[in-house]
Amino acid sequence: MLENFILIQKEKLTEDIFLLNFKRENNKKIPLCGQFMTFLLPKSWGRAYSILDSDGENYFFIIKRLEEWRGGSKEICDTKIGTTYKAVGPAWHFILHKTEKNKLFLCTGTGFVPLYFQILWSLKEKLSCELKLIFWVREEKDIFLEDRLNILKKENNNFDYKIYLSREEKENYESWRITNFLTKENIANFEEFYICWNHDMIESVEEKLLELGIKQEQLFTEKF
Ligand SMILES: Cc1cc2nc3c(=O)[nH]c(=O)nc-3n(C[C@H](O)[C@H](O)[C@H](O)COP(=O)(O)OP(=O)(O)OC[C@H]3O[C@@H](n4cnc5c(N)ncnc54)[C@H](O)[C@@H]3O)c2cc1C
Repeated sequence: MLENFILIQKEKLTEDIFLLNFKRENNKKIPLCGQFMTFLLPKSWGRAYSILDSDGENYFFIIKRLEEWRGGSKEICDTKIGTTYKAVGPAWHFILHKTEKNKLFLCTGTGFVPLYFQILWSLKEKLSCELKLIFWVREEKDIFLEDRLNILKKENNNFDYKIYLSREEKENYESWRITNFLTKENIANFEEFYICWNHDMIESVEEKLLELGIKQEQLFTEKF
């Protein structure tokens, strides 16, 4: 069913990544962690966006404004506060499994979004399993919400994260690709793997994990 969503807050997190808070106008609906909404944008029509967090009324998103392509991301990132769009959802099955199995979250760029929601939910539900996020971006300037990750880490001794930079070397960050992290030793402790980003990234991460002896049924993926 189509619902009205009003943009009430917008923050620029990096040079091309925005945090948007849309208020669901009528009935409240709490999404499951990992789900997305589809916005019907006046010029670009349907575009799907994973939910970062929500109390059923405020829906937070992180969206990358892409200069090229068809323009949907520019349209939504350039939206003026107070604008109302129709949207449908929340939908989809990329949902965290409520188990006590140690979970590894692997993402690049805005693939962070559904995984962050899943981590928040695990912590709120007081799952005691180990939760680790591996977040890959190009350069230090592309990192977002690290302050929030730090707070989560300080407050929860079962959560940890590591940021990888693929295009520069910086103190405090790991260099090169996310797949470098995937060694037998590093994954030995984990039983569930949540992976989000584009087709190529998901394929290479899956391939590496399967090579290391992980079973297909332990892998959960979301493709943008
Ligand atoms: C289930 C689902 C959840 C999604 N959640 C998010 C989200 O939380 N945040 C978000 O920014 N986008 C998300 N997307 C992508 C989004 O729906 C649009 O594809 C994106 O905003 C680009 O739209 P566009 O019209 O500007 O470009 P399009 O013409 O649709 O561009 C398509 C090209 O851009 C690539 N692309 C899509 N998204 C990104 C991105 N974020 N960064 C770099 N390249 C990208 C695609 O792989 C494709 O090659 C999601 C997509 C799906 C299917």
